[in-house]
Parts: sequence; structure tokens; C-alpha cells
Amino acid sequence: MNKQEIPYKIYLEESEMPKAWYNVRADMVNKPAPLLNPETKKPMTEEELSQIFCRELARQELNDTDAWIEIPQEIRDFYRMYRPSPLVRAYCLEEKLQTPAKIYYKFEGNNTSGSHKLNSAIAQAYYAKQQGLKGVTTETGAGQWGTALSMACSYFGLDCKVFMVKVSYEQKPFRREVMRTYGANVTPSPSDTTAVGRRILEEFPGTTGSLGCAISEAVEAAASREGYRYVLGSVMNQVLLHQSVIGLETKAALDKYDIKPDIIIGCAGGGSNLGGLVGPFAGQKIRGESDVRLIAVEPASCPSLTRGSYIYDFCDTGKVCPLQKMYTLGSGFIPSSSHAGGLRYHGMSSVVSQLYHDGLMEAVTVSQTEVFQAAVEFARVEGILPAPESSHAIRVAMDEAMKCKETGEEKTIVFGLTGTGYFDMFAYQRFNDGQMSDYIPTDEEIAQSLAKAPRL
Ligand SMILES: *Cc1c(COP(=O)(O)O)cnc(C)c1O
Repeated sequence: MNKQEIPYKIYLEESEMPKAWYNVRADMVNKPAPLLNPETKKPMTEEELSQIFCRELARQELNDTDAWIEIPQEIRDFYRMYRPSPLVRAYCLEEKLQTPAKIYYKFEGNNTSGSHKLNSAIAQAYYAKQQGLKGVTTETGAGQWGTALSMACSYFGLDCKVFMVKVSYEQKPFRREVMRTYGANVTPSPSDTTAVGRRILEEFPGTTGSLGCAISEAVEAAASREGYRYVLGSVMNQVLLHQSVIGLETKAALDKYDIKPDIIIGCAGGGSNLGGLVGPFAGQKIRGESDVRLIAVEPASCPSLTRGSYIYDFCDTGKVCPLQKMYTLGSGFIPSSSHAGGLRYHGMSSVVSQLYHDGLMEAVTVSQTEVFQAAVEFARVEGILPAPESSHAIRVAMDEAMKCKETGEEKTIVFGLTGTGYFDMFAYQRFNDGQMSDYIPTDEEIAQSLAKAPRL
């Protein structure tokens, strides 16, 4: 099909939107390892998980057998407010790079939260409401998840308590204000409002916080309140399940115009957008229907897949969550404070970890200055101001397109543009002022942090 016949933006019809989420675990030959109870070291049961998460979400977390899980009508109605998201042909970027490659991006930034996180937030809020809960607690790093959850909770009339990593709380006051506008209660973490927060403050005075630490506080805050559950925006199987709408829509849009992708690229923090985007394509690979390359992109300053170990580890600094087998840098790992590009989590989704371990997915790291170079180049030709996280995927999509220029191959490259960067202007400012540096952890630092992983 030539250029003229493929629209600049491919939108699906409402009737073509997914009616069920896709659960790649059902098709995986090697299933992700089960979550373990941190005390008994036995696999977590639905009963145990239901004390942390809503019951239906606990079920989804443990479901390794159903490939399709119906999306409740109320959630589909909410999705319609901002979905389908467009699959955009990056004609201007191709032109700029003078590449024979065809580049597409799936843009998830067209909603107020500014990212893909709303896809799971609305599902989690829905199940909490169904169960008759009063509210939910969560952590947020850069702020996108907290914003998405605030929106979802206000839609269903639930209370929402957000523990926001202190450095972001201070650097992104407007993020915080958006959450408050949607009715959420926002606390900088670590805080003295929880026992675990007080313990961490004592051990690391002056710490600017981390996701692992905010998770511990949010879990405690839920556990100590009647009618509350903890919810989280990445890493868990249930989140990847909800995010499969990204991959399903992408696949439907490509199929509609008979486009066969050669490479699919996503940035990887906890792995939720990546898992959601590549899920349906990984399923095809597992069933022997496709040999598309799947690439995870992570920051060189927080390289869990490429330099971490594949072991059981704590999901949080306070060690209150179930143990998860994943590629990890150790739960005490805190990326350098010079790191501004998001994707700061020490571990990785167990689904993504297993797909990578089985060779179904590749992983690469990029440094933050090259990421911001790509972000700026992309913004100037494609118009969208990308989130730094998303720009990791842009970087590698551009690198792959440049390889095509050398070889003359007309590969089709698809990447996930997970969100917009309007609240990341401190980071852009540092880049624009030439003050951005690249800190890469040493092997010793990673080994030290991994030495504290649990022994099983
Ligand atoms: C949260 C976030 C990410 C990273 O999270 P994943 O769970 O790895 O997808 C990437 N991009 C944006 C815009 C985000 O908000």
C-alpha cells in the first residue's frame, strides 16, 4: 500500500474497539513465577491477595488461563471518552531522518492524565466501587499514575489517597494540584503519617524518596483503614492486562490496512505500557504466527532488564508486599538524583521479565541526554511534546530507522508514545541549558543493592 492510501492517523471505529482484554499469560509456555507470601514464602492465594487488592483484581492477578477477559460495559463507556487512541504515521519524522523505514506511533497522551495510566486506573476504580469500598491508596512517582487514579476515583465517587515521591512532589507542584482538583489527597513520601515512612526517614534522613518507599506507605495506609484497598499503576499482571487495550487497538489498526510490523518498541519502567502494547504480538510469536522483534527500552541509570538479576525480590523498600520473581536491581536501589527521565522502578513486571528471559523480547538501554535529544527532535517535527519516559522509545525507534537508512531496508517500526511531557519542564530546562548529565550505576552499586535481596 503506498503512502497516500494510509491515513496520517488511523482511528478505529467505536465498534472496532476491544470488548475484552487480552491476557498473554494464557498463551505463555513458561508462565511468570507466582507471587510469594513474604512470610511463608508460599504462593499467594486469592484470599491473601484480596486483603491487599480488590477481590476481582486479585483474581485477575492470579489468572494464568483465560486469554480473554471481558471489559465491563461501564469501563468501556469510560474508555470511549478518550479512546480509541490514534496510531499515527510519523511521516514528518521519516522525512527528517531521510529513512526508508515506515514509523508509526500509538499515542496515549490524549487525556488529562497525559498518559496510558488511565486505562488501568479506571478499571481498578471500577472494581473497588463494585466491591463497595470507600476508597483506595496508591503511590505515584512522576505523577501520571496519581493523576489518572484521581480522575478515575472522582468518576466513581471514591476517596483517593496518593503518596507522591518527595522529589516529584517538590518539582512538580502542578501535577499535585491536578490531583487535588480531582479530589485526591496527596502526601509527599516518605512521610511521618505511616510507621514505615517514619522508619525510612529515620534510616535515611533527608531522602528524596523512591517509588519502593511510597508503595510501602500506601500499602500500610490501606491496610490500616476500614474499606480501603491499595491499587498500583504498573508492574502487576492485572495492570498489564488492562493495558492490553493499547496492543489490541494497535493490532486492529495495523490489520485494517494490512500493515505488518517488523519491530515494536516500548519504554519500560514497571513494564505496563510495554506489556500492554506487545502482549497481542507476543502471543502471535508464541503461537508461531509472527517473528516481529519486540524491544524494551530502559534508562541506563535504572537498567533492571539489562543489568539486573532474575530472582525473587521485594517490590517495595519497606518489604511489606508479596515477593515477585523479576529482573531487579534490588529493592533498595535508588537511581541517581540527576536522573530526570522517569522509569525509576527497581524491578520489572514478571510477565515482561519472563518474555525477555525466554528470548521473546530484546532490551536496550539509552542514556538520558540521548533520550532528550530524540524528544526535542521529535517535538519539532511531529508537534507532540513527548514525556521523557516515552522518549526512550522514540530514541530507539529513531536509531532503528537510521539503521534502515544504511541498509536501505523499508522496515515498519511501531512504538508506544505513552504520554505528554508538559509537567516535565524542569527536565527539559536542564537539557535546554546543557546541564543534563548521564549517570550510570557501577557494577559494585548494583551488586551491593542486590546483596540485600531475600534468600529463598
Ligand atoms: C508511568 C509511565 C511510563 C512507565 O510505566 P510502565 O508501567 O513501564 O509503562 C511510561 N510513560 C509514561 C508517560 C508514564 O506515565
